[in-house]
Amino acid sequence: MPDSHKTLQTPTVPEQFSSAAKLLRNGGVVAFPTETVYGLGADAENDEAVRRIFSIKGRPADHPLIVHLADAGRIGQWAREIPDDAFRLAECFWPGPLTIVLRRSSLVSDLVTGGLDTVGIRVPAHPVAQTMLREFGRGVAAPSANRFGRISPTCANHVRDELGSAPDLILEGGDCKVGLESTIISLVDDRPTLLRPGGISLSELCENLGREVSLPGQPDPALRAPGCHASHYAPLTPACVITVENIAVEVSRSVDTGRTVAVLCHTKTVTDLYPATRCLLLPNDPIGYGQALYASLRRLDADGYGSILIEAVPETEPWRAVRDRLCRAVCS
Ligand code: AMP
Ligand code: MG
Repeated sequence: MPDSHKTLQTPTVPEQFSSAAKLLRNGGVVAFPTETVYGLGADAENDEAVRRIFSIKGRPADHPLIVHLADAGRIGQWAREIPDDAFRLAECFWPGPLTIVLRRSSLVSDLVTGGLDTVGIRVPAHPVAQTMLREFGRGVAAPSANRFGRISPTCANHVRDELGSAPDLILEGGDCKVGLESTIISLVDDRPTLLRPGGISLSELCENLGREVSLPGQPDPALRAPGCHASHYAPLTPACVITVENIAVEVSRSVDTGRTVAVLCHTKTVTDLYPATRCLLLPNDPIGYGQALYASLRRLDADGYGSILIEAVPETEPWRAVRDRLCRAVCS
């Protein structure tokens, strides 16, 4: 394996940050931890390097990447006509799991934005991402470090399993604390719009801005937000979301027809009813559930069940981001 393809399995140490920054400066692609999911990053000002991200992910060229910065002081380089709301949100939620969509500056290439006149910008909080961005000193364009349409990685092993040695370096940063992709808010129109729910909730955004934040209407391909794509964040195994009562019915139907089935639930296990059925019990709170969801889906996917039954989560605001991802996981 070439030296540049080394994978760091131990906690990231200072020399590894200088390797990462050097690779980024030379057009390399570095997978790195953030508090949401692991990202696959390249110098946002280097089109060749950004092209490699698309090719490693197998991602269509019209899907925009997020530009990651070390701090909010640099947004003026990447965006234009920045409204006060952006500074207010940045002050309150950065560094953190919030992506703000703004009109792009001339520094941003069409490759990064998929041809849109807007750019998504985020300042991540994870200390490894922070140190890497500071050492590099410029913007890092990054989507999640998974193949297009698949589940986002929430630990370095997921990135290794999925992308192998395709990234020039994988920085280790443990398990992601949020575990779901960032909240995306667009500030390009008069009214702020939530493009993707995530770790920062709709009510936190409304409270901070002191006004309503719209929800996008029906899926509109022109918006190009991941939440608008039917099959995003999907396991390979067919999955469906059903009530806990219907899980018992479905399990018995599967058992009767000789199909294997796994269950992902959060209120009670069906293990007692069907001891032969694999059942993963996730935390019964949206934060704990969000942290554990992708790793659990990956585990069940790898085990090759005929189907995955997911217990429906509450229809309440705190569960919005989890509900959104479950909805994507079962649409294919
Ligand atoms: P990923 O989370 O891997 O899908 O990659 C970043 C996501 O951020 C993309 O899928 C986009 O949908 C979203 N994004 C980035 N820039 C923009 C933008 N200008 N407008 C809307 N969504 C964006
Ligand atoms: Mg993604």
